[in-house]
Amino acid sequence: MKSSAAHQASLFESIAEEAAQPALTPMMQQYHAVKQNHPDCLVFYRMGDFYELFFDDAVIASKILDIALTKRGKTAETDIPMCGVPAHAYEAYLAKLIRHGQRVAICDQVETPEQAKARGAKLVQRDVIRIVTPGTVTEDTLLSARDSNYLASVAADKNSWSIAWADLSTGFLGVQSGTDQTDLLNLCLQIQPREIIATPDLANQLLPLATQHNIVVSPQNAARFNAQQGERRLHQLYKVKSAESFGTFDSLDYAAIGGLIDYIALTQKTDGISLAPPHKTHAQGILLIDAATRRNLELSVTLSGEKQGSLLSTIDRTQSAAGARLLQQHFATPLTDKNAIAARHDGVAWFLEQSTAWRHLRDQLPRLPDLERALSRILWGRGGPRDLSVLRDGLTLGKEIAQNFTGPLPHILQQAVTHLQANPQTIDALIAQLDKALAEELPYQARDGGFIRDGYHAELDNYRSLQNDTRKIMAALQQRYCDASRIPTLKIKHNNVLGYFIEVSPTNAEQAMQAHDPHNHDVKLFVHRQTLASATRFTTMELQQLEEKITSASVRAMQIELQLFADLVQQIEQISSPIRQAAQALALIDVLCGWATLAIDEKYCRPVLTDDTSFAIIGGRHPVVEQALRQKQQQSFTANDCRLEDDQSLWLLTGPNMAGKSTFLRQNALIVFLAQIGAYVPAADATIGIVDRLFSRVGAADDLAQGKSTFMVEMVETAAILHQATPRSLVILDEIGRGTATYDGLAIAWATLEHLHNHNQCRGLFATHYHEMTQTEKDLPRVACYTLAIKEWEGDIIFLHHIVKGAAAGSYGVHVAQLAGMPSAVIQRAQSILNDLEQHTPHPVTAGSVADSAAAFTPPALSTGEKAALDHLKSLQPDGLSAKEALDLVYQLKNKLN
Ligand code: ATP
Repeated sequence: MKSSAAHQASLFESIAEEAAQPALTPMMQQYHAVKQNHPDCLVFYRMGDFYELFFDDAVIASKILDIALTKRGKTAETDIPMCGVPAHAYEAYLAKLIRHGQRVAICDQVETPEQAKARGAKLVQRDVIRIVTPGTVTEDTLLSARDSNYLASVAADKNSWSIAWADLSTGFLGVQSGTDQTDLLNLCLQIQPREIIATPDLANQLLPLATQHNIVVSPQNAARFNAQQGERRLHQLYKVKSAESFGTFDSLDYAAIGGLIDYIALTQKTDGISLAPPHKTHAQGILLIDAATRRNLELSVTLSGEKQGSLLSTIDRTQSAAGARLLQQHFATPLTDKNAIAARHDGVAWFLEQSTAWRHLRDQLPRLPDLERALSRILWGRGGPRDLSVLRDGLTLGKEIAQNFTGPLPHILQQAVTHLQANPQTIDALIAQLDKALAEELPYQARDGGFIRDGYHAELDNYRSLQNDTRKIMAALQQRYCDASRIPTLKIKHNNVLGYFIEVSPTNAEQAMQAHDPHNHDVKLFVHRQTLASATRFTTMELQQLEEKITSASVRAMQIELQLFADLVQQIEQISSPIRQAAQALALIDVLCGWATLAIDEKYCRPVLTDDTSFAIIGGRHPVVEQALRQKQQQSFTANDCRLEDDQSLWLLTGPNMAGKSTFLRQNALIVFLAQIGAYVPAADATIGIVDRLFSRVGAADDLAQGKSTFMVEMVETAAILHQATPRSLVILDEIGRGTATYDGLAIAWATLEHLHNHNQCRGLFATHYHEMTQTEKDLPRVACYTLAIKEWEGDIIFLHHIVKGAAAGSYGVHVAQLAGMPSAVIQRAQSILNDLEQHTPHPVTAGSVADSAAAFTPPALSTGEKAALDHLKSLQPDGLSAKEALDLVYQLKNKLN
């Protein structure tokens, strides 16, 4: 970020210097003026059929795009670097630059050459028509259909914060406020915006975390986040005198919203902003899940960054792109309001009861086009004829879909249907109009023409038949010229440089030159225009006149088509609200219907949510592991109960490696998550007291990029849990303390469990291989020990994956190592060391305390060399070692062991 700002500053200086050079061409002067106003953007400068980039912009873009870096002219005796992308295909290049976190200012011609001539200018006026940034794209080619693309604006003071986030491609606008700084960071990551704007100070604070999660931070002048101006902007945008009807907003909300609207106006170069009314929530209304927990639970992506294998991909049964995006939105903001959650469950229940309607919808929803994005493109002035047909087809299907909802409906579906059927006459009129107006085959852009159906507009039809007739006349003319010149292979062709021309092969060129007008033998038939190696080209007066007629007919036809397009767009603009509401209702129906499908396919149940701290999952399963086992046709998943009741709200889980501890821990966290987004859950029965924060620390992960070791990451994340978990939270801790020496780890794990029990008083599941910790059950009244049952049979261990009360007899780690294919010599040696250790150490479960256990531990006898090496190691200060000293040390230690 800093380096890019520094680069931009130096670029700005160099441009200022360039501008001072007297020898610059008018075009370069124009370029410099544009660049000076947009120093933080790559400028796409339109020249003919290309967008060109110059100077450092060209160097950066050519590297990212992998295109040739050329040069154009000189400045101060130095070549000006240049690269370009074809204007007709620029979106693909733009997409790549945006994915790399760049901002692009699109500088286009804003007048015709004729207009420039009329005002006596030599150069056509160009200006930036739009700034494209990662958070403000709307083009289909720059977006993923099933993913939202949020721009977030953050405002904060010492005590509280507000975040406003919008998806320009759908018109969604959310606002949330809170007080805890950590919640702000967590919420930013939960929403996963592509770009965050904030004042420079705040941007600096957000930068490390944002960069780590691939979010671009664009610092903005503090004046942009002025609360009063923000409030005014909000009123102007929705043409209201007060925003109360949308919710209760405070000054930080206005600052964040104002900053957002201002930035959108700046980048889109328009005041005609199109966003749905803001949807306001408070942080308390959201189940807060920090980034580490989201990652550990593999909610939207797996630990390796894949979507496949995540909870989202496993439970996503939506059939439309808007439905998939709404599901993602629910993933970002699971709820804590019991009634709001129950309303979604009611919706799912209705589909389960009404199987005919559910089946119809499963057939209808896959045909649903992306109404939201088509509407937004139209409202941003970037729509094309295909977007019009999307509206026609989507709204028509919406009407059909509404027919499925008969009889008494739960509130959530009643509301959706009301939105779907709002303004029926106007919507019907629009559908009919679009049906009448649009041709069968539609081009991508209006300027390609040919999208208005024949018979829709009489004048257009006239020009079209004129064009068609002229084409027929052209064919007759070609035949006449063939006959008159006696050259049967003569052709009338067209290109952009010459327009229409007559073409003959080189062998017939002389004959064509000599051909005479059949009506006047003194006059040559053809006028020579061009000789190429492969052909000779001619024209005639008659051909030129015909060309003029065709051109003016097609220009006029195009003007009419563009006007008709503009009329249809205007008609849509007037009813954009009901169209957007219908689109949102369809997305919601898709999500609820998808959850019903999931419940049917996977036998999920409706959870009961309560206001207390109950937690009773009966027959719970892990949604992802269960499906994976089925796909691999391996053993079926063993369901397990989990009752975190008052007298055992913290479960201490011991058990062999591979027995299923992590799976059990995660499945309970995932069941809570699914319940609170409003879905059914993989269990036979579930009663859950609403969880306010969900924490999970599973496994160890290095974060070398952030300069944190495995153990450091583990401790940072555990510390966050101990600081933040409340009695309403659910905490999942898996093998805390395993990243350090045995006794340090045991001590930390022990103290952590005590803190959770005495201080946080939350519900929790704690898995560990430190069997000594089962002692805590005696002293901590709410701790209960559970283990995973195994069966030993003929020297082998069978994992039953079944949770039972009690403690594990051991970890069977050596056995698992054997299963993993470790060399048998290593296994034998490990077994002998283990026997030795077990003989010298009291049975962990019977040890009185951590201290007793530590004191009782007698390490196996060491050779003199081993002892010397160990002593040497103990005396070391690793932090003070250079790389060379560390390497020398390895040799010294090795020598001691020999
Ligand atoms: P470790 O202590 O080595 O981390 P663990 O006890 O946490 O192991 P898991 O990673 O949860 O074990 O589970 C190991 C494998 O066992 C899973 O990948 C899955 O294939 C299988 N498994 C776990 N739980 C169940 C279950 N309830 N039913 C069926 N198979 C299961």
